Amino acid sequence: MAKERRLKGIAVSKGIVRGTVFIFETKKIEVFQTPILSIYIRKEIERFEKAIKQTKRELMSIKERINQEIGADFAQFLDAQILMLEDKEIINTVKKNIKDEKKNVEYIYHKVLSNYAEKLGAAKTLYLRERVVDIWDIGMRVIRNLMGLTHSSIVEVPKDSIIIAHDISPSDAALINPSNVLGIAIEVGGQTSHTAITARALEIPAVLGIEGLLNKIENGEVVIIDGDRGILIKNPTRGRIHFYEEAKKKELEFEKTLSPYCELPSKTQDGRHIDISANIEFFAEYIHARKYGAEGVGLFRTEFLYLTRRGNPTEEEQYRVYDTLAKRMKPQPVIIRTYDLGGDKIVTDYHEANPFLGWRAIRVGLDNPDLLKIQLRAILRASANKNVKIMFPMISTYEEIRRVNFILKKVMEELKAKGIEFDDTLQVGIMVETPSAAIISSHLAQQVDFFSIGSNDLTQYTLAVDRGNEKISQLFDHFHPAVLRLIKNVIDAGHDAHIWVGLCGELASDPLAMPILIGFGIDELSMSPISIPKVRMVLRALTIPQCVEISEEALGFRTALEVKRFLRRTIHKKFPSIEMVVRKRGEKNE
Ligand code: PEP
Ligand code: MG
Repeated sequence: MAKERRLKGIAVSKGIVRGTVFIFETKKIEVFQTPILSIYIRKEIERFEKAIKQTKRELMSIKERINQEIGADFAQFLDAQILMLEDKEIINTVKKNIKDEKKNVEYIYHKVLSNYAEKLGAAKTLYLRERVVDIWDIGMRVIRNLMGLTHSSIVEVPKDSIIIAHDISPSDAALINPSNVLGIAIEVGGQTSHTAITARALEIPAVLGIEGLLNKIENGEVVIIDGDRGILIKNPTRGRIHFYEEAKKKELEFEKTLSPYCELPSKTQDGRHIDISANIEFFAEYIHARKYGAEGVGLFRTEFLYLTRRGNPTEEEQYRVYDTLAKRMKPQPVIIRTYDLGGDKIVTDYHEANPFLGWRAIRVGLDNPDLLKIQLRAILRASANKNVKIMFPMISTYEEIRRVNFILKKVMEELKAKGIEFDDTLQVGIMVETPSAAIISSHLAQQVDFFSIGSNDLTQYTLAVDRGNEKISQLFDHFHPAVLRLIKNVIDAGHDAHIWVGLCGELASDPLAMPILIGFGIDELSMSPISIPKVRMVLRALTIPQCVEISEEALGFRTALEVKRFLRRTIHKKFPSIEMVVRKRGEKNE
């Protein structure tokens, strides 16, 4: 019997599962070149036609599955891919070139696609440039079929799989099928990377940042993922399997004790109401939001619409999603954040040296006002439901909010002129997630109706720690006193200007942070739906004067570790009933 091995990583999405390894690799394929005799030209063309047909069948079946499991809106990018696959011009050029050049079809097809992609890459519009990704997606699928190679597509993962990969791009992560994927383990990433966020959204146990994972694991092995402790176990012994079966039982019991908190009011023991809302990435998650008792959607990360579809959805497509979401959540509010593209949510071949400090979020929007306007029109039209709010991501200057408000006003005027219905009193807010915005929040507050603090990015930018880099993940700590002071500053600035202030980063779902955030006076907390019952349980055990005292004392510490130790001691002494929740969380080693 092979020896058991424990591979340690970062716990990012809780739960324990046992399943079969599915290695998801995006390996580069070498396309070879061989001359062919004239008598084989016909055969070569037939091979090509067969590969196109096979690829179409595959794309159709993926489309069918996405349609059923995620929704028709997400499957639409496949229609565009099928159209490209059957593009007459490409097909005829390939056939002609096989005849003229007398070379194998893989080589010819690859060459024709390269020319085509080069032309698209130089196109003026962003939309066309982004189609290069699609072209290569389909092209490599055809070439793999020609070469008889298997695909490693994330949508085709078999049942009961544990996905093992070096990395999963946000667009691939968005296509993960939660009914087939039991767990995820990857070599890179940290707590707040987008793979971690997606895993939590889909409630899939995940461990990130396991160095050298791909060299230690084989396809088809059975492994355990412990998402609470951040471990992958290879060749588990019988004793270990038994231990985890027992742990799983306990976990289910614990979940049962939390279930009443899906429905109880979000009130502190002394009666202060704090809104607890849901962060969602995919439209269908509103079902989770409702199931766990969210009081609204506090953050809809719309860029996932863009990423799953691999391109900008039309105004009509976006409107349908926003409008349906608003209707399903009514009368509760829905905060729709405009695209936060860039950073690690990259969709094209566009690269930059420091993506997190580069062309991201509102910067992309302001440079592409047409793209932004399409989205604003769709959100505004959905606002006719009277429960929609708009939020802009990654504001770092006062000018940005002025410019974006100006564009919004223009779009409103256009809609009014056309007699299109929308809510002209809808609230407009910003994410406060850069240190500059946090520091000048008293000025920014004059321009908006609310703030939502993005503690993930605020921590990343304040501490100069890449949120997705496993090598420095021990430095990423939202309890760092610098982060806490900025948060306090934002809440105070918001309240001085009489606007409400929420928090929608991962800090909102950390039970240990509750006394501090409540003591600071936070008005709303938004988190992945599954965290809601636990946070509500903690909230209901606290009182405002106690929280104010705790938060004031917490601000005096020098390090994140001191803050956390103090919070643990205090909870142990004053709130023993919630200690189990605070302990339960898979935390970083201290
Ligand atoms: C944040 O930065 O805290 C946030 C909520 O936004 P995102 O995680 O989508 O960057
Ligand atoms: Mg952010």
